[in-house]
Amino acid sequence: MLRIYNPISRKKEEVTPGHGRTISMYACGPTVYYFAHIGNMRTYSEEDILKRVLIHNGYSVKHIMNITDVGHLVGDGNIGEDKIAMTAKKEGKDAKEIVTFYTDAFFSDLKELNILLPDKTPKATEHIKEMLTMIKNLYNKGFLYKIRTGMYFDTSKFKEYGVLTGMNFNKMNENLIAGARVKREHGIRNTTDFAVWRFLEDGNNWMVWDSEWGRGFPGWHIECSAMSMKYLGETIDIHCGGVDHIPIHHTNEIAQSEAATGKKFVTHWFHVEFLTVNGSKMSKSLGNIYTLEDIKKKGFEPVALRYFLISGHYRQKLNFTFEALESAQRTLEYIFGFVERLTSHMKFSEKSNKKFIDFATDAKSKFFKSLDDDLDMPNALSSMHLLIRDANKALDKNALSEEDIAKVLDIMLSFDEILGLGIGKKIVEEKHAPLDKEIEDLINERNALRGIKDFAGSDRIRKLLLDKYKIIVEDTSEGTKWKKAK
Ligand code: AMP
Ligand code: ZN
Repeated sequence: MLRIYNPISRKKEEVTPGHGRTISMYACGPTVYYFAHIGNMRTYSEEDILKRVLIHNGYSVKHIMNITDVGHLVGDGNIGEDKIAMTAKKEGKDAKEIVTFYTDAFFSDLKELNILLPDKTPKATEHIKEMLTMIKNLYNKGFLYKIRTGMYFDTSKFKEYGVLTGMNFNKMNENLIAGARVKREHGIRNTTDFAVWRFLEDGNNWMVWDSEWGRGFPGWHIECSAMSMKYLGETIDIHCGGVDHIPIHHTNEIAQSEAATGKKFVTHWFHVEFLTVNGSKMSKSLGNIYTLEDIKKKGFEPVALRYFLISGHYRQKLNFTFEALESAQRTLEYIFGFVERLTSHMKFSEKSNKKFIDFATDAKSKFFKSLDDDLDMPNALSSMHLLIRDANKALDKNALSEEDIAKVLDIMLSFDEILGLGIGKKIVEEKHAPLDKEIEDLINERNALRGIKDFAGSDRIRKLLLDKYKIIVEDTSEGTKWKKAK
């Protein structure tokens, strides 16, 4: 049973579905005005771990992730230009072109990082009707007011405003005013109030729609409320995003959703801490970002980045350095090396090593127990590494039977259902990669020479296979086996 930290009760709570055996999971997706950076990818990778653990625990997961292609203003608040409109202007391109290009790039990054794709990735611009219906509902219930720049949500009217932050309405407003973090627009009633619809007369057709209050475009927060409700219902089991969404985006999503339905919006929140650089949040505005492309250009495998991103605890900051990434890549090679050793080991003990198998079974159960405890990945990984270390020692002594080795391999594959490093794929590629015809002929020829006891001839072929094709041939009691040399 998975338990995750609830930021409202500040306790770890068991995750249970609202209906049947399906968990509804909504993840705030990218604003597609630039490449996602690896900080964003930390959040999506951790959400992937959450999803994989739920699947491992026997649930099916209905996973929705929005694509923000309109409405997200520079600065996340009420002031500033739409990020996509701004990029389109700057690059002299159509907004649609920008959106298509960066959406494709985003999906390609997800795939390279072995992130299981959401069931649906709805776009904001294709759900304006649903947003306007929700706005109308809020308007009729008296939560909205109109000022020159748009339709605003009066946060003083929502009793529980700010619950996610641990602050109440007054405290949040005081803090914002004291910190002068938000410029107040003329006519705005409370500093925390936010636009659900912004007026804009001009702009190209892509960015502007008619509404009964005036022509314009939706606020960023209303997108997630409207789309999550359309696909997952009024109460969703898990809502995910980075910790930066707590004070504004998710706080406002709760206010407008619960004001509209009168029901609880989210049962479990899942917030991922920042990927940092020299202690500061990785973000485009600070100019300290790296993209997956940057990482690949430096010679790193995407899956090494994945291993690095998931190796910390999701509720703790993770500092990015190239040294740390290098160490992740080395660890990954070590893990793959171990799996390859398991698949190609040829000297077996006659009987099963019960003591070792008990230890391996225990390591497996500790791995999954750690994950069930608020996704404690550092602990889970340490169970895996202890298993690898001791299995290597046992292999050195040829102290495992063939069945024991198969069991260890099975455990590694079960770990990989969560880690998503592609261990299974690697085994299939290595074990079942079709042999070149030439190599196969040489192995057959060597077998024939051994059959007539021409050992000098068979050794010549063995040497040729190694020198020319990097193939190691070994003769075992079960016949001749081969493997690729490193
Ligand atoms: P955005 O496209 O800015 O809305 O961000 C997409 C996702 O990445 C959101 O869930 C953010 O909270 C998250 N995010 C942004 N910056 C970071 C960071 N440095 N580390 C981890 N997650 C981040
Ligand atoms: Zn969102």
